[in-house]
Amino acid sequence: MEINELFQGAYDLHVHTGPDVLPRKLDDLEMTERIRRLGMKGYGIKSHYFVTSARAKLLNQAYPGMNVIGAICLNNSVGGLNPIAVEMAALDGAKIVWMPTFDAENEQRHFRTSKPEKLPHWAKLRQEFAQQGNPLPTISLLEGTELKPEVHEILRIISKYDLVLATGHVGKDEIFALVEAAGKSGVQKIVVTHPSFPSIRLSIAEQKELAQRGAYMEHCFTTPHSHKDTWESIYEQIRAVGPQHCILSSDLGQPTGLYPDEGMQLFVRNLLDNGFRREEIRTMIADNPRRLVEKEG
Ligand SMILES: [Zn+2]
Repeated sequence: MEINELFQGAYDLHVHTGPDVLPRKLDDLEMTERIRRLGMKGYGIKSHYFVTSARAKLLNQAYPGMNVIGAICLNNSVGGLNPIAVEMAALDGAKIVWMPTFDAENEQRHFRTSKPEKLPHWAKLRQEFAQQGNPLPTISLLEGTELKPEVHEILRIISKYDLVLATGHVGKDEIFALVEAAGKSGVQKIVVTHPSFPSIRLSIAEQKELAQRGAYMEHCFTTPHSHKDTWESIYEQIRAVGPQHCILSSDLGQPTGLYPDEGMQLFVRNLLDNGFRREEIRTMIADNPRRLVEKEG
């Protein structure tokens, strides 16, 4: 079955391209060339450390018709939960705001208990800061059971600029508090980042509840591909929650991984082979992402 036509105008909103602090498989220029050949419209540049809106602007200037998406991720390198950084990113054209990832208290808690054999690059970086006597703080959205005031301020800015709120690697309690407050702040576009990631692990019932509040569940190719979840479990989650509430992305760019567009094609192939319809796949890679990054409100 020809899958290329499914990718016409599609997006991959979670890609780790270079230039970056961490080594990457490909840079923005190569990525843009690759997805353009496939007929895709754009991708979201996810740096764990810096704002990527300027990169996106240059790419969109160099490749008319493409819509590469800039973003900010609220780790320590941008001051953590820093409303000024979010507003400046918005003024620069950034469209996605990820809550903390590697610096999230939730991720660090999980990391300490899971003890991987080989330290990932980002963990080595944190270790180096600590060895220099400048340990990077871990970031929680909560103070007790309440969201911190700066989180409310960030939600106000996300709403004002009609940005996409993405949950990053914060934990279950934080996600629920965040999505509820986002609704009250008028945030229209919410993505729950890889809900079955080991440090997050939202049940199907929890995913459904968040979807009912308007959030999209973002399933990433790398989660099952790197055995953080099984493929069967991913199919089951998508079926139960419904493709209308899901988006698919690659989360690729790691130097030893596949190219992001290869990952997306394999993802789609697996879904087709497991009974998903072409319209359902279009919903998750084109219609829903377009609603997030092309449409107002
Ligand atoms: Zn990622």
